[in-house]
Amino acid sequence: VRIYLQFQSSQTREHRARLGYAFRLFCAIYGHQPLLTPEEANSADIWITYWEDEHQLGTRPTLQLSNGYTPRLASVPAPAPWPFRCGDEDTVLVHAPKSGSEPDWFGEIFEWVSCADEYSVRKRDMFGRIPFAESYVARHKLRVDIPYAAVAMRLLQKALCRLVPNALLQPVCPIPSTSHFVVNTHDVDYLPVGYFSSLHRLGKNAAISLLIRHRPGLAAKQARWAMGMALGGHNPLDQLPILMSLEARRRVGTSYFFLVVQYHRRDGNYDVSDPVVLGLMRLLEEHGMEVGVHGSYTSLDEPSRLASEFDVLRRHGFRPAGGRQHWLRFTLERVIPALEKAGASYDASLGWSETAGFRAGACFAFPPYSFEREQPANFLEIPLIIMDAVLPVGVNGLAESYNKAMQILSISQRYGWGGISLLWHPTAFGGGQYPEELGETFWRLLDHSVHSGERWVSAAGFVRAVAQRYVECGLLPA
Ligand SMILES: [Zn+2]
Repeated sequence: VRIYLQFQSSQTREHRARLGYAFRLFCAIYGHQPLLTPEEANSADIWITYWEDEHQLGTRPTLQLSNGYTPRLASVPAPAPWPFRCGDEDTVLVHAPKSGSEPDWFGEIFEWVSCADEYSVRKRDMFGRIPFAESYVARHKLRVDIPYAAVAMRLLQKALCRLVPNALLQPVCPIPSTSHFVVNTHDVDYLPVGYFSSLHRLGKNAAISLLIRHRPGLAAKQARWAMGMALGGHNPLDQLPILMSLEARRRVGTSYFFLVVQYHRRDGNYDVSDPVVLGLMRLLEEHGMEVGVHGSYTSLDEPSRLASEFDVLRRHGFRPAGGRQHWLRFTLERVIPALEKAGASYDASLGWSETAGFRAGACFAFPPYSFEREQPANFLEIPLIIMDAVLPVGVNGLAESYNKAMQILSISQRYGWGGISLLWHPTAFGGGQYPEELGETFWRLLDHSVHSGERWVSAAGFVRAVAQRYVECGLLPA
C-alpha cells in the first residue's frame, strides 16, 4: 500500500522528523511504501493526516490522527500511560487522544522505539546501567512482555484496513518463506584457556550453585567435576566446540561475540591474540558462523574505544559487522555514536539484564533514533528479548524456563516477522556454570522452531536478508 503522510502546519521540523521516522518504520515492518512529499501525494492509495478540519483533506481515503505527541527536553520523562482497549488488544497510550478520535499512532511508536523516557533516567545500578526498576514499564507497572510499539502498529494497520479493504492485517516479511526471524547469539565471556583458572572457575561456580542458587545437587556435581578435572578429566566449561558442532549439524545461523580487550577485571579471561583463541574464531567462521564484537565493560567510557575494539578484530583478519555490549553496560546516547564510529551494521544490546521482554516495546529490528542528529542511526538494532540467566529454573526445571521463553517468543510471532535476538552463553550448556536445564531449554526452543516456519540466523545473516526493506523506506543508507 502506498501511504502519504500529511503533517500539520504547526508541527516543527524536529516534530516531523520524529513522526516521519515512526511512519517509515511502520511501513518497513508492514511492507508499505511511505510517501512524504506533497508531489507524491496524488499517487498514494491512502492518506494519513494530522490536519483536523475537513476542508484540508483530499479526496482519497484518509485516516485522521490526533496530534498528541510533542517533542520535550531529554531530561523530562514521558507522561504517565492511559489504558486503551481496542477489539481484543489491551494496551496503553502515552498520549491520550481526544474522545472519539484516532490516537497519535506515530507519536506512540516513536515514544517506545526511541526509548525517549530512558534519557530522563539519571539513576545507575552498581555496574553503571539503567536499572530496570527505573524504566517506564516498571515505574508505571506495565508489562515488559507486551511489545507496545508493535501493538500500536497493529492497531494503526487495523484502522487502515477499514479504509483499504484488500490490505493485509499481518506485517509482510521481506523473505516470504520465513514466518519469524530469531537472531541466535552467544556472548563469549569465558574461555577455558588456562588449566588453573578453569579449576578455580568450577570451584567458584559450585559455591554459587550452593549458596546463591540453592542447588546443592548441582553444586556437588560441579565440585565432582572440579575434582575430576584436577585428576586429568574433561573440563565441563569447555562447551563452545560442542555447541558449535551441534549448531553446524543443524545448519543454524549463529553469532559468537568475543571480548577483544582486557581493560577491566570484568572483561574476559582470555586474550584474542592467543593463537588458540584465534584458531577457535577461525574455526567458527569455517563452520559458517559469525564472529562479532562483545563491546568490553569500559568500551563506552571513551568515545572511540568501541571503534578501536572493532579494529582489533579487523587487524586479525575478521570483518566484524556488529555485536553486543558486555554486561549490557550501555546507554543509548553513548552507544549510538560509538557504533556509528565503529562502522557497525547492527547491535543486539537493547534488552534488560534483569528480565526477559521488550525494552523498546519492539519485537522487530529498527535503526535507533539519534536525538543528536534528529534522524535514524545508520545501523539496525536487533532487540535482545531473552537471555539465559533471566529464565526461571526452579523445582520444575526445564518446563518452567522453556514455558517462559516460549511465552515471549510466541508474543513476538503474533505481532510480526521477528528480528529479535536470544542470548545463550556457551557456559549455560552442560551444567558447568548454570543448571543444565538452561542449555536444554535452548535446544528445545530450536527443535520447536523447525516446525513453525521460524528461522534462526546469525545477526549478520539477518541484516543481509532484510536491510533492503529498511533502505527502501528511507531508514538506512543504501
Ligand atoms: Zn558478556
